[in-house]
Amino acid sequence: MTAKRIVLEAIGVSHFFDVSRPFLQRLVAREQKRRLRAVDDVSFAVPAGTTFALVGESGCGKSTIARLAVGLHAATIGEIRFENKPLSAARAQPALRRRMNMIFQDPYASLNPRWRVRDIVAEPIRAFTLATRPNEVQARVGSLLAEVGLTVRDGDRYPHEFSGGQRQRVSIARALASEPEFLVCDEPTSALDVSVQAQILNLMRDLQRRLGLTYLFISHNLAVVRHMADRLGVMYLGRIVELGPAEAIFRGPRHPYTRLLLEAIPDLEQIGRRRTPVGGEVPSPIAPPSGCPFHPRCPLANERCRIEKPAYTRTAGVEVACHAVEEGRERA
Ligand code: SF4
Repeated sequence: MTAKRIVLEAIGVSHFFDVSRPFLQRLVAREQKRRLRAVDDVSFAVPAGTTFALVGESGCGKSTIARLAVGLHAATIGEIRFENKPLSAARAQPALRRRMNMIFQDPYASLNPRWRVRDIVAEPIRAFTLATRPNEVQARVGSLLAEVGLTVRDGDRYPHEFSGGQRQRVSIARALASEPEFLVCDEPTSALDVSVQAQILNLMRDLQRRLGLTYLFISHNLAVVRHMADRLGVMYLGRIVELGPAEAIFRGPRHPYTRLLLEAIPDLEQIGRRRTPVGGEVPSPIAPPSGCPFHPRCPLANERCRIEKPAYTRTAGVEVACHAVEEGRERA
């Protein structure tokens, strides 16, 4: 079997935010600069035509990675490559820039409320001169609306006239308008009713199959990720703690955090079973715990975990950053 082409690759990426108080206040209080390490030495690759999902609780850094992946932030350390080129170089070329796009969590906030839907969807077509004559542009808009399950007449309406699910369909049509190959989907269904979420996820899978799309899919919801992911990265406090084929991780999670996350998701085969949410609070990324950052919440933590940051252990294609896995005591 030939290896698939890698569309996006993150190599040792870290990203810091400066969260210091203004200079004069720091001077008076004799305070050092404060940095928030939102992403900590993250590496992954997304092969063409597949979905790589990043999952974790709020504040784990997954949305920062989404923004890094489309160039909205620049990596402080490490590199992101798109089509084997540094991302900044790829974004400088319109032909490559149009091949990546993003679908946001809140479709209402990401659509211009004063524009009709047909103009919203037409804008990338005009910006990248994919069609110039008005009838060509309108024909393309019509086929994009049909692609996402809307009608040509929906193009005459404004975003506020649609339901949440329909608005997300408009966002997807607009994201597809530049004819991208790679889409970063940042919690694309978390603002929607549960009944609508499955429709949007099915639409995204269907589009992926028909158009050969590659997704970087960001979610806090493992049930949603299970529906979408080929490969999966579980994030905790800026770091990927378990990485590998989604099916293998769902079948046999190794990292204690992944196990607790999986414990917490509803299982249709076991309705009525009590779910245990992951206990404790996510620590502040400004002052993360020593050693393994998960140790204050981990049922398997020992002295080594409090002192030493775990390296990755690789078994059966899955990488896990955990001392208990390395020592073989996680299954005890
Ligand atoms: Fe738990 Fe230790 Fe593994 Fe961290 S390294 S997840 S604290 S067992």
